[in-house]
Amino acid sequence: MPVLQKNAKHSKKISLVTLLTGLVSLSVVLTVTILLISFYQSKKEALIHTTLTLNHTSALKMSHTIDALIKSMRSSLQHSASIFSDMHTMNADEIHAKLELIRRTNNYFNSITVVDETGLVQSVSPESIGTAGIYLRTEAAKTVLALKKPYISVPYMTANSKRLVVLISEPIFDKGGIYRGFIGGTISLHEENILNTILGSNPTDELGSSFYIVGSDGHLLFHRDASRIGEDISANPAVHKLIQGQSGYEQIVNLRGQTELAAYVKVPENDWGVVVVSHISVVYEQVNRDIQRVLLYTLPPFLLLMLVVIGLARKVARPFVSLADLVSKAGREEIEFSEGKQHWNREAELLTRAIRFTLNDIKKQTDQLAHDARTDPLTGLTNRRTLEETMQKWIIEQIPFSLIMMDLDRFKSINDTYGHQSGDEVLKHFAKMISSSLRPEDVSSRFGGEEFVVLVSHAGLEEAYQVAERIRHALETSSNPIGHPLTVSQGIAHYPSHAVSAEDLMYVADEAMYKAKRSGRNQTVIAEVSEPC
Ligand code: GH3
Ligand code: MG
Ligand code: MG
Repeated sequence: MPVLQKNAKHSKKISLVTLLTGLVSLSVVLTVTILLISFYQSKKEALIHTTLTLNHTSALKMSHTIDALIKSMRSSLQHSASIFSDMHTMNADEIHAKLELIRRTNNYFNSITVVDETGLVQSVSPESIGTAGIYLRTEAAKTVLALKKPYISVPYMTANSKRLVVLISEPIFDKGGIYRGFIGGTISLHEENILNTILGSNPTDELGSSFYIVGSDGHLLFHRDASRIGEDISANPAVHKLIQGQSGYEQIVNLRGQTELAAYVKVPENDWGVVVVSHISVVYEQVNRDIQRVLLYTLPPFLLLMLVVIGLARKVARPFVSLADLVSKAGREEIEFSEGKQHWNREAELLTRAIRFTLNDIKKQTDQLAHDARTDPLTGLTNRRTLEETMQKWIIEQIPFSLIMMDLDRFKSINDTYGHQSGDEVLKHFAKMISSSLRPEDVSSRFGGEEFVVLVSHAGLEEAYQVAERIRHALETSSNPIGHPLTVSQGIAHYPSHAVSAEDLMYVADEAMYKAKRSGRNQTVIAEVSEPC
């Protein structure tokens, strides 16, 4: 069981190929990810910067346009104010005729009003405004009269016509320099006016940028969403900066919680502010499109690179993998080394050589041990254990055979006379005689001491007798280490004629051999076959 447990543990380990493949894949994936992240970041920052700069450029242009517009509106009003410098000498019709002429020749304003120094409206064009002959009570009118200077109001609601307007006014002085009132033009923010005529009604460019104009108090004067005109957005970070007199560009979060790239520039003439904004999502969409394009170009070569490196990694790992497989088989099955196969990897080659050497050495030692366990060290014949195994095997396979039990005669006296070493030489000599007299399929073994056993396969008693006699005769006539004739007594038994078990067969052959001893030695006796009772 411990072997199985070991194998179970072993199977959970990560293989070298998986490890290398994993490492390569991981490094490629990480490289691509890092590249994409850095590309994404730098591209995003560059796009944000570009968008902000573009927005700033268009805000500056727009600011110049509006500045020029306001200047020409003012000079137009100044010119009109000079026309009304002797207004106190004109009658109402004259005033009205002149005002109508002025309004028809310029279309800057939605309405133009001439007011005297008391706040009484002398004339208004178009007449439909309906303020002619009444006193103005709005804060804007009061401020204009008190200032006696050019003025641009913040958006306010007119008392009479309930329109959200911005008032631009110029004072009227007579030739003596006495203040006579003012001429005021209004821009009606919710109606068709000069701003949306010049700037367009839905100002969004192809990059998703849009703009709006705020008054000096942070109220919207112009917006693509007309419903928001007049709304106070002074809390918007860009508008807040404008109110503080700053121009610039930055990423902001608007009042609706949306992130925008805003550029804000003041209009010098009237403290209005132009804000050009792009939604941040425009940048993300562009970056995502770019990332997809980059992926399209970089992914195939990266995948190819990954496959090539994985292939190389597997090639590098292959010799180590086969060595590991080979070593894991050691001791369990026959290992075959393909000799002569060289590895291009130095370490793999060295390791293969070392393992080959070690395994060969182990194999030699194991073979030697196995051989020793089966062999009698003195004579080189098989030993008693191997003899018994062979007999068991042949009996199981029912191979008929004859067993010759041999015992050297008077061997003790050989020892006593010539010494133990000479006795050993005699034993070796006899073993050689036996071996040379047998066929390869026969088995000869040293049973113990000076006793030997021969198994003659598929041999009957007669054939075995001839083999035994041949051996006995050869021994007797051979020139041997002691120079004195050697003899042997032999007993023969047959399987299955004499016995069906190895033990009984040995016993029967032994009995026959002792019979040969008793009958005068140097002879072969075939055991008697017992008659059935
Ligand atoms: P017998 O004819 O009745 O067989 O007489 P024997 O002397 O051969 O019989 P015995 O059984 O009395 O003597 C066997 C002797 O074999 C005794 C022992 O000293 C000797 N012997 C046993 N093993 C070895 C061995 O490995 N080497 C040597 N030199 N002698 C051995
Ligand atoms: Mg003996
Ligand atoms: Mg003997």
